[in-house]
Amino acid sequence: MLRVPGPTPCPPEVLQSMTKQMVNHRGKEFAGLLESTTARLKQFFQTKGDVFILTGSGTGGLEGAAVNMLSPGDRVLAVINGVFGERFADIAEGFGANVERLRFPYGEGADPDGVAKALDLDKSIKTVLTTHNETSTGVTSDLASISKVVKQRDKLLLVDAISSLGCINLPTDEWQCDVVVTGSQKGWMVPPGLAFVSVSDKAWEAYTQAKMPRFYWDFGQAKKFLEKGQTPWTPGVTVFYALSTALEMMAEESLESIFARHTRVAEKTREEIKALGLPLFAREECASNTVTAVKAPEGLDVDKLRNILSNEHDLALAGGQRDMAGKIFRIGHLGWITESDIDSVMDSLKKALPQAGFPIE
Ligand SMILES: *Cc1c(COP(=O)(O)O)cnc(C)c1O
Repeated sequence: MLRVPGPTPCPPEVLQSMTKQMVNHRGKEFAGLLESTTARLKQFFQTKGDVFILTGSGTGGLEGAAVNMLSPGDRVLAVINGVFGERFADIAEGFGANVERLRFPYGEGADPDGVAKALDLDKSIKTVLTTHNETSTGVTSDLASISKVVKQRDKLLLVDAISSLGCINLPTDEWQCDVVVTGSQKGWMVPPGLAFVSVSDKAWEAYTQAKMPRFYWDFGQAKKFLEKGQTPWTPGVTVFYALSTALEMMAEESLESIFARHTRVAEKTREEIKALGLPLFAREECASNTVTAVKAPEGLDVDKLRNILSNEHDLALAGGQRDMAGKIFRIGHLGWITESDIDSVMDSLKKALPQAGFPIE
């Protein structure tokens, strides 16, 4: 069982849909598929603006956000509380932005007041990068409040929502997020291979000014081709089949029910982890509903634990990234997930934890 925060398992209906023959991606059939999936995605993004389906992983979507919105030398505020926030900053910097990194402690959410202060201190900042759900630490930041602060100062807001959109509420238009990025293999019950991005009117204004080099990720090309039912380059057709089926299932369940299910499953996960005597890594008021990070107590060998789970229980959990390696492990609970899946994770943990150096009372 795959319980990492992406890729996530796909329901059998979704897998089955990928056995269909290829179609001409410049033909009528693909146009219908592209139009229906894009329309459905707009409902999940809660936006009336543009949404594009790009072939690539989530990071490609983040690069797209940067190169379509920024120019070399632009002052950018990167709000960082984990590994993925660092990555977004690195991408913008890699293409020549002048990035100010505003870091918050790992395990905590980004503080809107801190963001306000940073923006007031340097009025030349035009754009803010932020991570809605920091997958590396299991933290969801208060994006509504961050957005308020950013929008009061009329800045552009680019959001990495790769591991939250479709699972945790993120009303793109209401929260005035200019570009929001997610990836197919996280909460969407779809294999890796597609990134989804929304683009607001204000983002289109920035697009006309942006001078970073761009080609593959050019949102203008995506828009031009979408108008004729196509993508600029050959799309991952098979993943589109999967997406179409998954979105149908998600629409049937409804956005509200999906959010509620993720809340229930996450609360159950946190409660049961605590009941095992294990500490949570993230502060509970900002704990994510898609991934739970567990702090390794004295004596627990995280690598050994993950090996035992993998070899003896066929269960894949994620470790900690970078500095957090060996210090935490993470349980992904997004997408195709129910309470009974967590029961089975806990059953395996109960057996494996004592073998990895953490006796359970
Ligand atoms: C998974 C993830 C990414 C990276 O996405 P890829 O599809 O691996 O490129 C970036 N940000 C967050 C928050 C993620 O969870």
